[in-house]
Amino acid sequence: GLLVGVLALQGGVREHAAAIAATGAAAVPVRRPGDLEGLSGLVLPGGESTTIGKLLRAYGLADPLEDAISGGFPVYGSCAGLILLADHLVDPATDRDGRPQETLGGLDILVRRNAFGRQRESFETQLVFDGLDSLPSLPPGAEPPPVQAVFIRAPEVEKAGDSVRVLARVRDAQPGPVPLPSMNRSADPGMVSAPEPDSVARIVAVRSGNLLATSFHPEITGELRIHELFIQMIRGEA
Ligand code: GLN
Repeated sequence: GLLVGVLALQGGVREHAAAIAATGAAAVPVRRPGDLEGLSGLVLPGGESTTIGKLLRAYGLADPLEDAISGGFPVYGSCAGLILLADHLVDPATDRDGRPQETLGGLDILVRRNAFGRQRESFETQLVFDGLDSLPSLPPGAEPPPVQAVFIRAPEVEKAGDSVRVLARVRDAQPGPVPLPSMNRSADPGMVSAPEPDSVARIVAVRSGNLLATSFHPEITGELRIHELFIQMIRGEA
């Protein structure tokens, strides 16, 4: 069977290991470079990206992982894991010496940390998620049910490069710019009716090559399909 590592330095390790095990693959905790041997893929869990990033370097895992990622090693990052896979951060945390936090990179995305607010503003929602229609768990021809997603101090993908496929967005109802009632519509021939209140669609799941990343946590809702998709990617079936 497949061996899939779960980075076990900090954060929600157990839940990801359980989700991997539920797909039928074996989950292995990764704490040091030697643990990477024989793995077919790796999950970077949620937690605190600054802490995990520091520990990755302290444990000598950052360099081998960056090399592996450049070589096509499959990695799934959830929440802090998405941040770690980002090439660019809008607002990297800085340490005492003013140095910005480092990521592993690999995904050509620009990420804003904590884009949905603080811990108190955590929320759960259902998402339309692209690319789940070929999973074995779904009866043929059936429309995949929405993905149950939990957002905890979640990052947002503000920009995704051409190599990156957007898999899910969350609609954020925003009080959009409400136009003043026009006294003289003929002065503005482009405006036929007042626009709907703006609804901003924010990118929360992406894939590029063998890298998969979600802003949200699928591992704490019993949602298994994101991990199943990752296993399919590892097998070269998705
Ligand atoms: N806000 C956290 C960070 O910047 C991520 C939160 C999470 O992983 N649940 O790392």
